[in-house]
Amino acid sequence: VQTYVSLIKRQSGLISGIVLVLHDITEQEKIDAERRMFVSNVSHELRTPLTSVRSYVDALADGAIDDKEVAKNFLSVVQGETQRMNRMINDLLELSRLDQGTMEVRTELVNLNSLFNFVLDRFDMILDNESLDEQVKNKKDYNIVRNITKEDVWVEVDPDKFTQVLDNLMNNAVKYSPDGGTITATLEKRKGQALISIKDQGLGIPKKDLENIFNRFFRVDESRSRIQGGSGLGLAISKEVVEKFGGRVWAESVEGKGSTFHIALDAVEDDLLEGDDWDA
Ligand code: ADP
Repeated sequence: VQTYVSLIKRQSGLISGIVLVLHDITEQEKIDAERRMFVSNVSHELRTPLTSVRSYVDALADGAIDDKEVAKNFLSVVQGETQRMNRMINDLLELSRLDQGTMEVRTELVNLNSLFNFVLDRFDMILDNESLDEQVKNKKDYNIVRNITKEDVWVEVDPDKFTQVLDNLMNNAVKYSPDGGTITATLEKRKGQALISIKDQGLGIPKKDLENIFNRFFRVDESRSRIQGGSGLGLAISKEVVEKFGGRVWAESVEGKGSTFHIALDAVEDDLLEGDDWDA
């Protein structure tokens, strides 16, 4: 909102009134501004890895290629950066599909207990796989505590898309935690809602940033997130996806202690699943 204030003065100099004009910047202007910001962000984000690829390739061309060790090292940087650009472009395409409503979603009745356990099994597997150590530099040690209700929790979601969301929250929990942290994964059903939470003992998020972390390209710490290979788009996509299924996602955090990400979805009640018709 733009504000204009002018004072109405009498000839004597006395102020007899104030005119206050509140000018609401139109919705269209706001959308345009957001779009410009988005394009500028995308260009910036892609330029960083591209510049780095270019310098390493130039160095190789200038002779670094003759030293086998150095060349191997440089090529692995190039590989990492191209992978990062690839991930970012995939994320951007996904966001654009979400914006245009052209993302293909196949909603079905999903048992959240199995889906969540499946995701967590994969994270446990990565942890146990010793041979990954050599491939994944900075591989972290973590410990997952499962706190999953015995009661079946059914929801209507696209299982692939929802798996991506959980993967993303779990990845962040690992990424933004120091080595050896505990991640607590909870699923419960309360008042007809499926409630998922993923709690870490990581760096946490400053209070002032909590409402921004779901915005596109927002990062609490630019350099830290980039080093970890983050695009700054994961949470924005997760939020759009969860909202597409009628759910909500939000975060709580205490800086230096850890963060908890929550998802709430409408649960499909068991009695709706098993109609009386079956017995007839
Ligand atoms: P990124 O690719 O940077 O991880 P995200 O959209 O997934 O992008 O997250 C946005 C930002 O939110 C991150 O850069 C990080 O600063 C912060 N963040 C997300 N998850 C966590 C977490 N579990 N703990 C601390 N900070 C987090």
